[in-house]
Amino acid sequence: MTVSVWQEMPDPIQVEHDDVVIGAGIVGAYTATLLRERGRDVALVDARFPAAGASGRNAGFVLTSQREPYPMLIEQVGRETAREIMNMVRENVLRMRSLANHFDVPLEDGAAHLAETHADARELEGWVRALEADGATVDFSYKDPYGSSGYVAMMQIENDFMVQPARLTEAIAASSGATLYDHNEVYAIEPAGECLLVHGRRAHIRCRKVYVATNGYGCDLHPYLRRIVRPVRGQITVTTPVEPLINVAGITENHYFRQFPDGRLFIGGARAFFEAQEYTAEDAITPDLHVNLVNYLRLWFPGVDFEVERQWAGIHGFTPDRRVAVGSFPNEKRIVFAVGFSGYGNSIGLVAAERMVALALDGRDPGPLSAARFT
Ligand SMILES: Cc1cc2nc3c(=O)[nH]c(=O)nc-3n(C[C@H](O)[C@H](O)[C@H](O)COP(=O)(O)OP(=O)(O)OC[C@H]3O[C@@H](n4cnc5c(N)ncnc54)[C@H](O)[C@@H]3O)c2cc1C
Repeated sequence: MTVSVWQEMPDPIQVEHDDVVIGAGIVGAYTATLLRERGRDVALVDARFPAAGASGRNAGFVLTSQREPYPMLIEQVGRETAREIMNMVRENVLRMRSLANHFDVPLEDGAAHLAETHADARELEGWVRALEADGATVDFSYKDPYGSSGYVAMMQIENDFMVQPARLTEAIAASSGATLYDHNEVYAIEPAGECLLVHGRRAHIRCRKVYVATNGYGCDLHPYLRRIVRPVRGQITVTTPVEPLINVAGITENHYFRQFPDGRLFIGGARAFFEAQEYTAEDAITPDLHVNLVNYLRLWFPGVDFEVERQWAGIHGFTPDRRVAVGSFPNEKRIVFAVGFSGYGNSIGLVAAERMVALALDGRDPGPLSAARFT
């Protein structure tokens, strides 16, 4: 989104902090926490409110995985770098679990990567071999976890779980110790001598460093980010409650689904079938994609009687290689960013936030997450 001159408050408050974090999703909230731990005075700013973006709309899968299956990641970046990324993801998953426990946020153990066909099963086996060779504990079997749905095989990676993502993000933001400026969309960041001036709708904040954690919305904030991250929509359908059916959340090549403890079915995905329309930042639902989601449930879980109860959309940030990018603006090293989680922010968002803080405060290179790969 953008901000018109009419929308800006007549007298925006003028304040000063050491750091401004833009975006109060899971990444911004955790960044604020890390900065406070380093003794900094932090402003956490959001156009709407904490968890208003993807962090409050996602499926809640916390997976030891990235968008590309592990063997493809190895092909993309080489074994050593892939292993390094996977170790970060493992660390991130454990940290998410410990935060969820700490804040008493509901979580459910387990998630099954499913093979719909024998060819998928062979791919899963390759994935298992690659993960095990790099120290992961993986459970694979030629079994349908739901009994007779027709899935050919399943893989579960140790420690994967489901979380209530909005509650977790809100809890991290609330306990961060940062000053929250909500409903304060930022429309410009400009140098002001030794400082930076962050212009928002209702607050103008003078600071030393700026941390951009706007993920898919980042491209509105600065042209440089437009080269790195692209908004992509994800859509989700929730049904009325049905009898217990899905004992473990499932992920296939194109869909992901779970069943809430109250019996409602939850399904998302299908973007691959609607590519052209889903490369958008528009928060809207489209009937054709939701028909696909409902039909998927009806095909794999036939005879189950449900109505659609709720549908929503969320905006991802995708990078060209589908991995997060951590870096600083080319001519302004005081502005750093961690964007482009490509659908896996629960898996690597915390570690990316940590790398962004280390880049800003210690000048430490973000390693394999570095956005330098796009320049
Ligand atoms: C439908 C869907 C399902 C998903 N499922 C999963 C999943 O199961 N597992 C997983 O790991 N990942 C999943 N993801 C991805 C995951 O949600 C994201 O990777 C993660 O939430 C990114 O967190 P973030 O804090 O970077 O961004 P966000 O949560 O999007 O936060 C960005 C914030 O920035 C604010 N903002 C934007 N522009 C401005 C501005 N100019 N000024 C001030 N504030 C601004 C927004 O209001 C927003 O609150 C899913 C995403 C979607 C859309």
